[in-house]
Amino acid sequence: MPLQPCIGLEVHVELDTESKMFCGCRNEFAAPPNSLCCPVCLGMPGSLPVPNYTAIEYVIRTGLALNCQVAERCRFARKNYFYPDLAKNFQISQYDEPLTFGGHVDLLANGGPVRIRIRRAHLEEDTGKNIHLPDGRSLVDYNRCGIPLMEIVTEPDFTSAEQCRGYLLELRALLRYLGVSTANMEEGQMRAEPTVNLIDRDTDQHTPMVEIKNLASIKAVHDAVEYEIARQLRAVEAGEEMFQETRRWNDQQGITATMRRKETADDYMYFPEPDLVPMAPEPEWVEQIRASLPELPRARRERFLSQYGLPEYDAEVLTTSKPVADYFEGLAEACGDPKAAANWVMGDVQAYLNEHDLEIGEFPLEAERLAALIVLIREGTISGKIAKDIFPDLVASGKTAEEVVEEKGIKQISAAGELEAIIEAAIAANLRAVEDFKAGKEKALGAMVGFVMRETKGQANPQLVNQMLREKLAN
Ligand SMILES: [Zn+2]
Repeated sequence: MPLQPCIGLEVHVELDTESKMFCGCRNEFAAPPNSLCCPVCLGMPGSLPVPNYTAIEYVIRTGLALNCQVAERCRFARKNYFYPDLAKNFQISQYDEPLTFGGHVDLLANGGPVRIRIRRAHLEEDTGKNIHLPDGRSLVDYNRCGIPLMEIVTEPDFTSAEQCRGYLLELRALLRYLGVSTANMEEGQMRAEPTVNLIDRDTDQHTPMVEIKNLASIKAVHDAVEYEIARQLRAVEAGEEMFQETRRWNDQQGITATMRRKETADDYMYFPEPDLVPMAPEPEWVEQIRASLPELPRARRERFLSQYGLPEYDAEVLTTSKPVADYFEGLAEACGDPKAAANWVMGDVQAYLNEHDLEIGEFPLEAERLAALIVLIREGTISGKIAKDIFPDLVASGKTAEEVVEEKGIKQISAAGELEAIIEAAIAANLRAVEDFKAGKEKALGAMVGFVMRETKGQANPQLVNQMLREKLAN
């Protein structure tokens, strides 16, 4: 059997709690450097950690959503190493007793469903941040030190870069639905580190495991894994010596390069954290958390297919973000036309949000007001084109769709009497097209319809114009 890619993913997620993991410092992004620190998160002698209850709950929430078991009893452990961004010289983490373990995620990746096993989702604290200046000096910001960090580790079940991408998209949507993290990879709230090697699953021969760091987007993970698979294949074919190592992704050059030879768990001298008692989540509490889980992205996607009859693509796009899915459902219900609602949300609404750099939660147009606009189109009061034209006004003005239409005097002309003269003029101005149409060229009618629409600034009801022209030309 040939060598096949064997990929695992370790994902770190900063939890969206009010305070840090073991102290009362605020958990906040972009505060002035070293303004959110105290003796506990700086590891001053004599300071003692107190665990953050909400962070523990968030990891249990996530673990349950990932089909994991919750440990009846587990402990924190000290991971010892020296680095300037770690003021204590150790990180409180979990080692052989994770809070949740043994779950799975089903992916609809290329070529059918794939089950990715989740080894564990555990709780630890984040480190500070080193900032390297161009002049060679380095600064340390300890604000991030002690922020609750969840680590989610898969088994090495991925066989392609595309599957890794699918998993990260699914995981990001899941974390946001659960409300445990904003999970932006670009802002460092979600960080992924793949391990990649090649294995012959018959003989169990394999290349040494390579871990990749410095990945700042889902695309970077995909590209780095793809590059690393190809690099290892080339190395095997060329008979090069290969090492178990950590490699750094260079996004500009699109390559991985050696960072350091791999350290093993022994190097960290893990031991149980002596300042914290073991955790034993009460089964009733775990069941309460399970019962409070929201409808998750996959389930919602499937419901959108069956309940609203949406195409797969629409269901996928609309369920990626919970607030977007909520907005769509409100709109579909209010206007009674799910497909039209989907088109508006994915089209004009999304374009408006992108243009104004807004989240759907900040969008000033309530679903009810947009629904009224969709109803006006359906009833023939305005055309779809005009609806698109007045959409920005509707958003900005805070008025109802009826008010905007009334004010602008742009009601669709649906009375035959009002169109009579313009229809006559259209025929008189297009004698050539009239001949062509009478000779059987259906398309020739378009010239006359276009004339009427121009004359009425798009307000004529196109079906009525068509019908009236045909009647006139038949005589
Ligand atoms: Zn603190």
